[in-house]
Amino acid sequence: MHVILTGGAGYIGSHTAVVLAERGHTVTIIDDFSNSHPAAVERVRAITGANIELREADLTDSVAAAKAFAGLNADAVIHFAGLKAVGESVAEPIRYYRVNINSALNVLDQIRERGIKTLVFSSSATVYGDPQALPIDETQPVGVGLTNPYGWSKAMIEQIIRDAAVAQGDLAAVLLRYFNPVGAHPSGQIGEDPSGIPNNLMPFVSQVAVGKRAKLSVFGDGYKTKDGTGVRDYIHVMDLAAGHAAALEHAQAGVTAYNLGSGEGSSVFEVIAAFEQVSGRKIAYDVAPPRSGDVAEVVANPAKANRELNWRTELSLEQACRDSWKWQSQNPGGYLGSAQETP
Ligand code: UDP
Repeated sequence: MHVILTGGAGYIGSHTAVVLAERGHTVTIIDDFSNSHPAAVERVRAITGANIELREADLTDSVAAAKAFAGLNADAVIHFAGLKAVGESVAEPIRYYRVNINSALNVLDQIRERGIKTLVFSSSATVYGDPQALPIDETQPVGVGLTNPYGWSKAMIEQIIRDAAVAQGDLAAVLLRYFNPVGAHPSGQIGEDPSGIPNNLMPFVSQVAVGKRAKLSVFGDGYKTKDGTGVRDYIHVMDLAAGHAAALEHAQAGVTAYNLGSGEGSSVFEVIAAFEQVSGRKIAYDVAPPRSGDVAEVVANPAKANRELNWRTELSLEQACRDSWKWQSQNPGGYLGSAQETP
């Protein structure tokens, strides 16, 4: 298949590009580099030896989107592009809705106009809010009591895709609800490169390990969980990338949602211990108050994806820590900066 990856220079997009190219698909990346670097695409080319076309475009602009899609004759689109910082979305809701919704609308226009029949969308476990029952399966309500505009934008785009698929009857759309992506390509050549202070646990822990940050704040140790800290379902980004390939290859007309997670919950303290063990570095931390909007525990039931996509996670949290550490220690300043870079 010829697959367009919007946001393909980003963290999950770049790893998915590697997996798709290695499976023999043709990959074209469209990105505006607002939170990514062209260097990531260079490294994807180096890892795979594939001839991956890169087009720079801001997909919130409908004219730019039409230009970016022109002449590609693609079979499928994976729509990764979007803003993803939960806290920032609370401070700048209009920007989050504008960017995430407008780019999705423009991508859907291009899909319809060009007769593209397959769409895979980067959704998030955030669409479930505070889950009613654990582990979470796809029958749980979506878009109820969400606590931030980022999550709402994902839930809204899921609905927009459902409506678009009714109108475009031959569209096969897959909504992939990611749990907590972590880790990096085993080469250490590509990985997560957050700008400024990382919002997410794993990049923060790896920056503490490499000496770029003094210590981690553990957001709350009074939750009703195994050790009081928040529990999440961490999924290695290479497993997540393989989930995209499986979704593309199994997409059926209509809209289907899948949880992409491991089914295993790990606490913040367990992540710290695993990272210390593989890196041989001590992770200094303080216990701080809970972060607003956080829930105690989020764990996937991935049975539907296991069954229908013939996909399951294969890599452990330890492997993810090892690969994150390799990426972080080989690239202490990310793709461009130096280790001393401060926000
Ligand atoms: N967390 C933490 N300190 C940090 C960042 C995150 O203790 O600096 C905790 C957070 O409260 C949650 C878990 O780590 O329990 C995962 O948070 P992350 O932001 O990575 O993902 P989320 O599940 O919130 O999307």
